[in-house]
Amino acid sequence: MIALTLGEIAAVTGGRLVNSDGSETVTGGVEYDSRKVGPGGLFVAFAGEKADGHDFAPAVVAGGATGVLGTRDAGVPGVVVTDQLNALAKLAREVVGRLPELTVVGLTGSSGKTTTKDYLGQLLSRLGPTVAPAGSLNNELGFPYTVLQADEKTRFLVLEMGARGVGHIRYLTDIAQPSIGVVLNVGAAHLGEFGSVEGTALAKGELVEALPPSGVAVLNADDALVSGMAARTGARVLQVGEAETADLRATDVVVDSSGRASYVLKFGVERKNVRLGVAGRHQVANSLAAAAVALTAGMALDDLVTALGEVGIVSGRRMDVFERPDGVTVIDDSYNANPSSTAAALHALAAMGAGRRTTAVLGYMAELGEHEVSGHAEVGRLAAELGVDRLIAVAENARPILDGAAEVGAWRGTARFAADQAAAIEILQTDLHADEVVLVKGSRYRTWDVADWLRRSEE
Ligand code: ATP
Ligand code: MG
Repeated sequence: MIALTLGEIAAVTGGRLVNSDGSETVTGGVEYDSRKVGPGGLFVAFAGEKADGHDFAPAVVAGGATGVLGTRDAGVPGVVVTDQLNALAKLAREVVGRLPELTVVGLTGSSGKTTTKDYLGQLLSRLGPTVAPAGSLNNELGFPYTVLQADEKTRFLVLEMGARGVGHIRYLTDIAQPSIGVVLNVGAAHLGEFGSVEGTALAKGELVEALPPSGVAVLNADDALVSGMAARTGARVLQVGEAETADLRATDVVVDSSGRASYVLKFGVERKNVRLGVAGRHQVANSLAAAAVALTAGMALDDLVTALGEVGIVSGRRMDVFERPDGVTVIDDSYNANPSSTAAALHALAAMGAGRRTTAVLGYMAELGEHEVSGHAEVGRLAAELGVDRLIAVAENARPILDGAAEVGAWRGTARFAADQAAAIEILQTDLHADEVVLVKGSRYRTWDVADWLRRSEE
């Protein structure tokens, strides 16, 4: 963070100084995990169910931190506020306001935010110091926390924006005021909250509405609900995708047996051959969005093409492909799942499994609301249509996956039900071919054990 005195922090957050005349300066980072606070840092204390951060405050300050931001006087220099999240939002807003040279990039969409943020972290770092930390820091805490990592040296700040409802993105854009906004897609994620994809589009469009006229909106030309957001922004629009209408366009997409896509990148009169470094056809869309931002930020086209072949995903469990010594290839895409990201992963499995046995271990997809049964069935149908050899559905609510697959009469694969992850592991343990490709996918922790077992049991 930029250097701020406790007095300034109190003024910005509307908080009350305690055990301080306000002159102590925060020169280090802002952290809410007491173990991470470094010298000169600011510790944000939360009172959790198990532990109260305020109790650690004296030790953290004794260890070199400048002060504490919390909801009560912890006996050390600090600022007392009524709501830490609100205070962090105000602080983040102040920091961005004091960094006029900073270019802020906001990303939203149903799938691919963290992936594209990781690409941008690596691309933009080639142009200047960039803040784009690993992980999925897109909520009311992670968002300001990320913003506060920017300082005078930072040229680019890349922010993931999650929308759980109308007004959420607006809240985040008010904090960070992005000048480049990317909307990746409006898939079937979090339908539970929104009710429909149109509702999701309404919420995600708040990002481009917030852009200044001098800004740039990067929109997915292949997703009608996203490309249509052009009408909701005063910023310059760059459409990206495979559609003819795209300003930055991919054509001649080919996916090889390693799952990686190659394409011809068309930009104005330019034509360049791109080969991506990460598996999955869906990376074409993510890479185009990242490319549009990098070009806007001033990257030369040839440098961009080289870099796109080198970037990877640094946040774990997303299209993380590894080969086991026994010959089994594992696609660990278990970070999260919804019907569209599962479809993308199944396509990758089919491409990588050509001529090999393929197994899809699919867990329950959370947050689908009234689309829960149909969403799972749809995924099962696709797996069968793609000719997946073995389908393992994990947990009771994932059972409709198998029902969907059964609807595909021509499917010759095997359907297995596993009541829990241990049962899925048992199925794999007793029957794993040397030349097999296994996809593991589910919402959050619901299939992580399976992926970890495949990783561990390779030795
Ligand atoms: P979250 O809302 O959980 O933060 P996210 O938008 O940050 O998700 P990622 O973490 O990048 O998304 O990816 C989540 C899942 O979606 C992964 O399984 C990934 O492989 C898949 N995915 C990434 N990009 C796309 C895309 N463009 N289309 C479909 N699926 C995608
Ligand atoms: Mg994410």
